[in-house]
Amino acid sequence: MVARIIPVDPFDLVIFGGTGDLARRKILPGLYRRLADGQMPPEARLIGAARSGGGDSEFRESVRKALEEFMPADALDQKVLEQFLEMISYVQIDAKGDKGWAKLRSKMREDVVNVFYFSVAPSLFEPIAERLKQHGVADDEARIVVEKPFGQDLETARALNASLALHFDETQIYRIDHYLGKETVQNLMAVRFGNMLFEPLWNSQYIDHIQITVAETVGVSGRGEYYDRIGAMRDMVQNHILQLLCLIAMEPPSRYSPDAVRDEKLKVIRALDPVEPDDIVRGQYGEGPGGPSYLDDVGDPRSRTESFIAMRLEVSNWRWAGTPFYLRTGKRLKARTSEIAIVFKDAPHSIFDVPRGRHSNVLSIRLQPNEGMQLGVTIKEPGPGGMRLIDVPLDMSFAEALGERASEIPDAYERLIMDVVRGNQTLFMRGDEVEAAWAWTDPVIAGWEARGHIPSPYDQGSSGPDDALMLLHRDGRRWREIRS
Ligand code: NAD
Repeated sequence: MVARIIPVDPFDLVIFGGTGDLARRKILPGLYRRLADGQMPPEARLIGAARSGGGDSEFRESVRKALEEFMPADALDQKVLEQFLEMISYVQIDAKGDKGWAKLRSKMREDVVNVFYFSVAPSLFEPIAERLKQHGVADDEARIVVEKPFGQDLETARALNASLALHFDETQIYRIDHYLGKETVQNLMAVRFGNMLFEPLWNSQYIDHIQITVAETVGVSGRGEYYDRIGAMRDMVQNHILQLLCLIAMEPPSRYSPDAVRDEKLKVIRALDPVEPDDIVRGQYGEGPGGPSYLDDVGDPRSRTESFIAMRLEVSNWRWAGTPFYLRTGKRLKARTSEIAIVFKDAPHSIFDVPRGRHSNVLSIRLQPNEGMQLGVTIKEPGPGGMRLIDVPLDMSFAEALGERASEIPDAYERLIMDVVRGNQTLFMRGDEVEAAWAWTDPVIAGWEARGHIPSPYDQGSSGPDDALMLLHRDGRRWREIRS
C-alpha cells in the first residue's frame, strides 16, 4: 500500500551540529532509513560539521553509535550501515571563526544539490549563513534548512529573516517545523481537498468547534533553564499548533504548490482575533510521581512561565465566524498525545429520542502516538432491542491499515529532508508566515505579562488546571479526554 519509492537526485548534505542531540537522534537515523529504503541514492554525501575536533573515522564511529542507540536493533542492516558510514565525512568548523570553511568548500560538488542543515543553536544561524557565502561554500542554488526556534518574538524573527535574506533568497530557505512533516498532517490536506465528503461541511454552519491538543508526559528537567525563558506559548503554540490550525482553517489553495498553500495559511494567521484574557488559561505542574514541580525543575520559585496553556480562539472570516478553536498543550499531563478533533454539530432535528448536544460526529486526527484518523458516527445498536442509537468510530489507524508496512512510514524529519533535496517548500514555513505568527503571539504574551498573571498549579498526570475545563464548560462544551 505504501507508494513505490522514487530515489531523489544525488546531493551533498552538510549538517552543522552533526555531533549534536538532534543530529544523533533524528537526522542521521532518518537518513539511514532513506538509504535503506532506496530513496537516498548511494552517490549522496553527508558531511558533519561541528566545533569539536576529530576526523572522518571518529565521526563515523560516533554516527554508528548514534544509530545503534537510537534505532531498534532489527532496523539496522550491517551492510547498509557500512555503506551509510562510507558516505559520511567530517569537517571541524567553528561557526564563528574562519577555519575549516575552505576545507568544506573543497568537499562540495558543483553538479549535485547542496543542502546545509543548521542543526545548531539559533545564535549560530546568522554567522553560518554569512560564512557560507563569504567563503564561497554555498552558491545561489544551495538550500539551507533552519531549525527552530525561529526567533523569540516578532522583532528577533524579523531580524533573523533579514539577516538570512542578505545571503540567501527565500526560495533557498527551508524553515523546519517537524509537525508539518507528519504523515497525518499531510493527510489532513488530502482528506480535505482530495475528497468531496468533508469540504462542503467544513465551515461554521456544520462544525460546532475544533480542539487541538498536544499533551506531553515529560517535564522540563534537563532543559529547565532554556524552557523557562520560552514557555508553552512560544515553544508549542506559536509554531506547531498554529501551523495545524492553519491547515484546518485555510481555504482550498488553487493548486498544491508551495506558495499557493502558504498564501492560504498566511491568510488564516492574519484572520486570527486577538485573544481576550478570559480566554487564556496558563498553568505550571506541581510536584508529583513524575518528579519535581515545574518551579523546582527550572530552579526559580518565582518563575511565571507556563508549562501548560489552553486558549479559545476565533478566526474572523466568512468560513469560521462563530466557530471557536480550543487549543491546549502542556507538560506532565495524563498521556502523550497530539490530536486535532473536528466536532460537528448535531443533526438539525432529531427523529430519535436522544438528547441534544451529543456531538457524535467527530473527525479525530491523531498525530501521535499511532498516527491515524477516526470518524465518530451514530448507528443503530445491533439486535432486536428497537431503535437504540450508539456512537461508533470508523477507525483508520495507519499502523493497522498498512500492516507491516506501517514501519515504513518515514519519520517527519526524513520526509522533510527529502523534500528539501527535491526543492519542495510546501511543508516549510515562509518568512512572512513566521512573522505573522509572532505578530499575533506577541500581544498575547505582552498582555499577561502586563497583568502580572501567575500560572495556576496543576497536578502531574492530570489534564491541566481546572480553569482549563471551565474554558469549555462555560460554552456548554467539554474537552476530549487526553489518552494515548
Ligand atoms: P546540541 O547542543 O546537542 O548540539 C549542538 C551542536 O552544535 C553540536 O554538534 C556542537 O558541536 C555544535 N556547535 C556548537 N557551537 C558551535 C560552533 N561555534 N561552531 C560549530 N558548531 C557548533 O543541540 P541540539 O539539541 O542538537 O539542537 C540543535 C538545534 O536544533 C537547536 O536550534 C535546537 O533548538 C533545535 N532542535 C532540537 C531538537 C532536539 O530534539 N534536540 C528538537 C527541535 C529543535
